[in-house]
Amino acid sequence: MAAPSDGGATAASASSSILNLSSITENPVFAGGLGLASIGAAAAYARRGFISGAGLLKRRMLVNVEISRQDPSYPWILAWLSEPRPVQGFIASRITRIHNLSITTTTTSLAPSAAAAQGAPTSASFFLQPGYGRHVVLFNGRYIAIDREKHSTANMNTGEPHEVVTLTTLWSNRHVFEDVFMEAHSLAAKAHEGKTIVYSAARALDWLPLGEPRKKRPLGSVVLDEGVKDRIVDDVKDFLERQEWYVDRGIPYRRGYLLYGPPGSGKSSFIQALAGELDYSVAMINLSEMGMTDDRLAYLLTKLPKRTILLLEDADAAFVNRRQKDADGYSGAAVTFSGLLNALDGVAAGEERIAFLTTNHIDRLDPALIRPGRVDMMCHIGEATKYQAAQMWDRFYGDMDEGGKNRERFVKRLDELGLFGEAHRRGPKRHTSTAAIQGLFLFNKNDMEGAIDMAEGLIPKTFEP
Ligand code: ADP
Repeated sequence: MAAPSDGGATAASASSSILNLSSITENPVFAGGLGLASIGAAAAYARRGFISGAGLLKRRMLVNVEISRQDPSYPWILAWLSEPRPVQGFIASRITRIHNLSITTTTTSLAPSAAAAQGAPTSASFFLQPGYGRHVVLFNGRYIAIDREKHSTANMNTGEPHEVVTLTTLWSNRHVFEDVFMEAHSLAAKAHEGKTIVYSAARALDWLPLGEPRKKRPLGSVVLDEGVKDRIVDDVKDFLERQEWYVDRGIPYRRGYLLYGPPGSGKSSFIQALAGELDYSVAMINLSEMGMTDDRLAYLLTKLPKRTILLLEDADAAFVNRRQKDADGYSGAAVTFSGLLNALDGVAAGEERIAFLTTNHIDRLDPALIRPGRVDMMCHIGEATKYQAAQMWDRFYGDMDEGGKNRERFVKRLDELGLFGEAHRRGPKRHTSTAAIQGLFLFNKNDMEGAIDMAEGLIPKTFEP
């Protein structure tokens, strides 16, 4: 008898819950709330559905290209974006007009004038580019969304914040990217035509272009002593034609040159002109620079940009470090001699490399440097000779000096002053630098008599009794 009574109880409780449910649903306040909640849930579902649908659609219909600041094409793309593009139509021109610009300013001191010495630039160029944020451009009839973003994290090597430019277009227009990159590359190539890029690592941990690319310096504008220039240029050209010869014999494909001589004799100018002649860039490191360590030097040599002449200035800094420190035990730079040798012999040496080392102090040179691949050729780039003085005269006054009579007078005057290394009647040997002769000619532009009259000023002050 217990079972039916149990069953009755279950039935009773079930009917009471149905009763409760119907009483709840019949409650107008509750029903209204339920209705609202259902509408809210449906809206939330619809929104989520819409977002994921839009995401799916975006993934299906749009295509992105992401370019990070480290990529060589990054500056090309920014330069391409800043190109003016005439856009037809009111709406298109409103959409694609870039309102948010950023500026890059480059200043150059054209001459070591007083203004430059005070830090005042003598020339400045401005380069406008799209700022951070979203932009739209119309290119070849296709819309491209551009998003330039700066991240809060920084590049460990350069210390600069990470930056990314993302180009987005319709999937069906994806081939427009090829045209964008082709045009950006050819614009960059055109901008660098006839120019030499000089890289430096002085203000960052990695190679960075030092200002704007410079106008190529013609080789003819650097006047070295008779035959010196041809000897080096022929050797470098011969080296560049012999890659296969090196590879076949398993010899690292690299060549080193050491230019030594006093400051102002044209060493750096010659290397820049040579780079221009070969259509190479120059990557410059001053070994006596503060903060240049063995590790940093080795790292930089492994990251040398392509088609670049490596210029290691003040190579003697490493020789000094090997032998002695300053009186207070500090040598200024931290590159050691073994650090320099390791960097020159390092893993990056497997690739093509042309290195020029310069020093004003050949007496500090260590014979261990003269090895194939480290230094293969040494050249003295010295004080001005008769040959150089005459050549430089012709470069400045050749057009107006008929028959070269004044040139002869000028050279004779320098000779009388004992400036070609002969012992002067009044004292020790005298010399003058090619930089000083250039300075004299610049001061007396178009004035041959002035240059001859002021030739005495070429006597270095230190040689006077
Ligand atoms: P270095 O590297 O030997 O110290 P630079 O190449 O820096 O000398 O020359 C300093 C300046 O003097 C430059 O403006 C350069 O044009 C001029 N100059 C020096 N030597 C020569 C030279 N042999 N031929 C032409 N210009 C020279």
